[in-house]
Amino acid sequence: MNAEPLILDGNKVAAEIKVRLASRVEELAVKGVVPCLATVLVGEDPSSATYVRMKVNACNRLGIRSVRIDLPKETTTEQLIEVIQQLNKDPEVHGILLQHPVPHHIDERAAFDAISIDKDVDGVTTEGFAQNAFGFAMFPSCTPAAIMAIMDYYKLQVSGKHAVVVGRSPILGKPVSAMLLNNDATVTTCHSKTTGLEHFVRSADIVVAAVGKPEFVRGDWIKPGAVILDAGYNPGNIGDVDFNACLQHASAITPVPAGVGPVTIAMLLKHTVDAATKRSAN
Ligand code: NAP
Repeated sequence: MNAEPLILDGNKVAAEIKVRLASRVEELAVKGVVPCLATVLVGEDPSSATYVRMKVNACNRLGIRSVRIDLPKETTTEQLIEVIQQLNKDPEVHGILLQHPVPHHIDERAAFDAISIDKDVDGVTTEGFAQNAFGFAMFPSCTPAAIMAIMDYYKLQVSGKHAVVVGRSPILGKPVSAMLLNNDATVTTCHSKTTGLEHFVRSADIVVAAVGKPEFVRGDWIKPGAVILDAGYNPGNIGDVDFNACLQHASAITPVPAGVGPVTIAMLLKHTVDAATKRSAN
């Protein structure tokens, strides 16, 4: 349908964010402040370990210090909360990232909510979620923030558009729905109990895929000219959107990999630098 759909290049967006961050990191260094992100990983899930490693490497490349805490899979909720509380108290740590998902026996909500709001750089606390819903979060969830940053970078209109978000998780579907609504889109949030999902997607000007199922969104669901943001990241570097089929109909689309993923990491770095800047000003 569309002769030349725009491929939304997440690496380009992330590179621009990181260039701006590099100079801010240098300015903080002059004041003797080194931004520091603490990552907490519970258990040995290989995908989670890879995500943490990618985040730590990204910190290192930008001159952000990282403290990596790997806990055994038997760790209890109480033990995890104790670790988080120690990090809350540590004046050298500016941001805390608890890698999701944690093992099933852990109360993930209680662990997330143990993170101090000033250090909640991944936007996972109940308070951070509420701030995002009101539209004044300092640290919105990183993937939703990345989706908005990509649309902002490419000057894609959100106001007045119908956005359909497929997925309603607390870290992705719900917060991105709130951000789109706060930017004056009309938002439909779909989930596993939605009846007639394709019907909703077919009416979307903006489609956000956050399902966790490879190539779930099909090409023939896409309205001609729609903008597609694929947050999915499934084994084998496969998104939640059937990229080649959707490309035939979309006006703009994020690839997987090199779409939302690299911008998510850039947002995490930005939030950590923001947290360090705020602390150094106090
Ligand atoms: P999640 O917690 O598993 O949530 C998946 C959502 O999809 C749920 O709301 C679920 O509905 C909905 N869903 C499942 N099957 C569906 C169906 N048949 N029809 C409609 N909706 C359906 O996943 P998540 O953490 O939000 O992650 C979603 C995707 O984003 C995954 O591929 C993940 O790897 C990726 N991700 C990427 C990044 C990144 O940096 N790029 C970061 C985080 C996550 P119910 O609520 O009804 O169960």
